[in-house]
Amino acid sequence: MNTSPAAPIIDLLAELPLKEVLPGILMFTLPVDYGIDHVNIYLIRDGEGWCLFDTGADCEAARALWLRALAGPLAAGLTRIIVSHHHPDHLGLAAWLAQVTGAPILMRPEEREVARATSVPDEAGRRHCVEFMCRHGLSPSDAHEIVSGVLQENLACDEPPPSTSLEDGQCLEIGDYRFDVLVLGGHSIAQICLYEPDFKLLLTGDQLLERITPNVGVWPYGETNPLPRYIDSLRVIAGLPIEHVLPAHHRVYHAGEKRAHGLAAHHQRALRRFKAGLREGMSAADLGEANYGKQSETLHGFLAMGETLAHLLWLEADGHVTSRVDTGVVRWSPVQGSTEPMVQILI
Ligand SMILES: [Zn+2]
Repeated sequence: MNTSPAAPIIDLLAELPLKEVLPGILMFTLPVDYGIDHVNIYLIRDGEGWCLFDTGADCEAARALWLRALAGPLAAGLTRIIVSHHHPDHLGLAAWLAQVTGAPILMRPEEREVARATSVPDEAGRRHCVEFMCRHGLSPSDAHEIVSGVLQENLACDEPPPSTSLEDGQCLEIGDYRFDVLVLGGHSIAQICLYEPDFKLLLTGDQLLERITPNVGVWPYGETNPLPRYIDSLRVIAGLPIEHVLPAHHRVYHAGEKRAHGLAAHHQRALRRFKAGLREGMSAADLGEANYGKQSETLHGFLAMGETLAHLLWLEADGHVTSRVDTGVVRWSPVQGSTEPMVQILI
């Protein structure tokens, strides 16, 4: 591979899934070996080197692409590594890249904390997760399968070295760009998005995706009532002039405000569907199965339960449903005569 600094960068990019999406901003699309098949991470020209936004999942194919990129078009190295949130396709290679490149990591302390909890390191942590799932209606065998199999295999990331935090409203100069840091909840506890007002450009991580509805679910750790915070984040995003959305999955798109409204409408429809489908005494797992159908994979049953629970908590706060604990399981019932749930993100 030609690594001469005089080589035009565009020739080198052709050899890798790296492309310049805006002046001085590269999208690097890496393979992911579970769930979704790819993730987009971004490199922003930062003086002599590159500021990285998200790292990719830790799999052999992604590491191989990174090594080729660092020996070629990214030979100038990384100046800093920003991690949007703790999910493994974003945080997965942070520890390794920090070691390989020496670049410092910038991420929210809450996300680091959740990452640690997610890897379920000890017996107490495992027990906490199993009890949470059983309390919301999963069988003990499904709960054990999820904790010992899927959660640990897919979600555990190597812990990165100590990092610097980023604050909501902070201005971050990266090369020719001046980004405002947004800390947004709902998909994870404190996801970092970067907004560039002059270029009307938003790096969203998973907060606002075009073809996927970002997961908003209650997990055994982290955010306990995520839907109001997710709707708040859509309100923030809908209030920004946006011309370019640089997401973690699928292509760059342009209609950021329209997508924020579309996602708010999605959650309003979901709230109405959950309300209409709720029968006396259902658990979140029961209602999740009634709404999404029986899931063949245990993990999907867990995700359906978490999404259902997030919507039930909203419905309860708005007086549409009530809950009680019956022999250790949280059971939900409709409130007769309540109005239709509304989700508004217009200010
Ligand atoms: Zn995510």
